[in-house]
Amino acid sequence: MKIKSIESFVLSDKLKESFYFSQWEYSERRICIVKVTSDTGHVGWGEGYGPAGVIRAGIDHLSQFIIGMNPLETETIWETMYRRTLDYARRGILVSAISAIDVAMWDLKGKIMAQPVYLLMGGKKRETITPYATGLYFTNCPNLADKLCDEALLYAKMGFKAMKMKVGLGIKEDIEIVRRIRETIGEDLELMVDSNHAYNLRESVQLSKAIEQYNIGWFEEPVSPEFYNQYAELRTKTSIPIAGGECEYLRYGFQALLSANAVDIIQPDICATGGLSEARRIATLASVYGVEVVPHSWGTGIALSAAAHFITNLEVVPGRMNPKPCFMEYDRSENGLRDELTHNSIVFENGLITLGDAPGLGFEFNEDALHKYALKDK
Ligand code: CA
Repeated sequence: MKIKSIESFVLSDKLKESFYFSQWEYSERRICIVKVTSDTGHVGWGEGYGPAGVIRAGIDHLSQFIIGMNPLETETIWETMYRRTLDYARRGILVSAISAIDVAMWDLKGKIMAQPVYLLMGGKKRETITPYATGLYFTNCPNLADKLCDEALLYAKMGFKAMKMKVGLGIKEDIEIVRRIRETIGEDLELMVDSNHAYNLRESVQLSKAIEQYNIGWFEEPVSPEFYNQYAELRTKTSIPIAGGECEYLRYGFQALLSANAVDIIQPDICATGGLSEARRIATLASVYGVEVVPHSWGTGIALSAAAHFITNLEVVPGRMNPKPCFMEYDRSENGLRDELTHNSIVFENGLITLGDAPGLGFEFNEDALHKYALKDK
């Protein structure tokens, strides 16, 4: 059995309404998708998180080394790709390219073996996952706080048990919007905040202290991802759990984060940090430190399905009869690619996600949508 072909695509969806976060504005969603086909005629799909055109170049570079390999040998394929890149890129885009191919390899392996990926990983540890709505981005409108409260209410009505909002507009503005949203959704729902490393340590401490009273589930990327010691210091100065790691690559990156006692929760992005193969190693590493894992996910249904399979299999420390819910990031911001490219892999009902047992990552892939959004000149 052999890998016959690896095709890559850059997809773009222009947004109806642009939105922004602490760093920049988005007017489109763009993603690199990879299709791996075996000589048995099975197909696996993956995606990379990050600048799509550059990831595509990485995928095209890596393809030459793995075409012809046995698609069931996911670890051997991973090692081959990593050995070919580590001299040049132990972090960043080439690792995202490895991730995209690795996710596709797991999907393909599942299809060939007619088994869901979570089962190939060792089995189901839970029947349901608790998605949290990622949204509440900033837009240019006259009454931003009102608009965000309406959006938060919508998530509450949809049944979400948790949601994550952006901060990073400025301490005063952030405090006011957090207060308004907490008042709007009441005390029962979890509310997390994410500044996308907008602040320095002093500002992060100031914001944390001011919003502790609003029962914040975690403060994500309070400071820049390079400053492990600042993360660690912030943890000693606030009761809010600290989360981070979406910019971290491979187990080695997470080792640095974990050994610095920088975070309460790590957030590896499966489609950037090294794929499902490496995310599993990172989860094992986190279990050694007793740190929670909640993967970052901001892509299409491929990334969401990969996260759902990963979390279904995830070992949670500490074990107990009534464990706390296992969270999954569930981006609700506008994204036609996410909504149209895949169908039927996960079901959202009563605030919980259940995963089916279809082979591979479990989704039906819509190739018409792929060609609708694919950039022709890339
Ligand atoms: Ca984030």
